[in-house]
Amino acid sequence: MKLLEDRIHTDGQVLGQDILKVDRFLTHQVDYQLMKKIGKRFAQVYANAGVTKVVTIEASGIAPALYAAESLNVPMVFAKKAKNVTMNDDLLITEVYSFTKKLTSTVQISSKLIEEGDKVLIIDDFLANGQAALGLVHLMEQAKAEVVGLGMVIEKSFQDGRQKLLDQGMKLTSLARIEKFEDGKVIFAPADDKDFD
Ligand code: 5GP
Repeated sequence: MKLLEDRIHTDGQVLGQDILKVDRFLTHQVDYQLMKKIGKRFAQVYANAGVTKVVTIEASGIAPALYAAESLNVPMVFAKKAKNVTMNDDLLITEVYSFTKKLTSTVQISSKLIEEGDKVLIIDDFLANGQAALGLVHLMEQAKAEVVGLGMVIEKSFQDGRQKLLDQGMKLTSLARIEKFEDGKVIFAPADDKDFD
């Protein structure tokens, strides 16, 4: 998505070898106009997939997932990283190792919210080593829901998350694909939605 790549060039900051900071529009301050366009793009790509729910993981996946859900006119459900006292239903539950936080957390969704036969579009802010995405796929398997695709806002293609998802037969749509960082600059690979630009 050209608009997103332009925004990464303007406001993204490369940290070290493998981290992109995008806290001006995605992971801390959120640009709702850009998120709405991102959500609409995911909805365009998956318009004919019969999506019944959009699923993400807190926190930064929520904004793009919500706009995708709005465009597809379906509910959005986000996996929670901490259990609280109101979560007294049966839970779909899995462990996810966080690439940025370097710790493993338990993530959960109430089993009432995802039903057998649901057709799910999984959305997240970043795809790196695929732990978050695979964790969500695992939760959907527990619910006997079908994952019709995954939509990633930013993919770091030099890490192996993409390959892991493709190996599982998943359809993947990344709106910005980072081939590498070079002298603090972002070099993009062709995005999966380039035909929609
Ligand atoms: P994965 O599970 O694919 O290894 O990593 C995905 C998760 O880690 C995303 O949900 C995101 O929160 C975080 N993440 C991974 N790489 C980056 C990065 O370069 N920048 C930021 N801001 N978050 C990242």
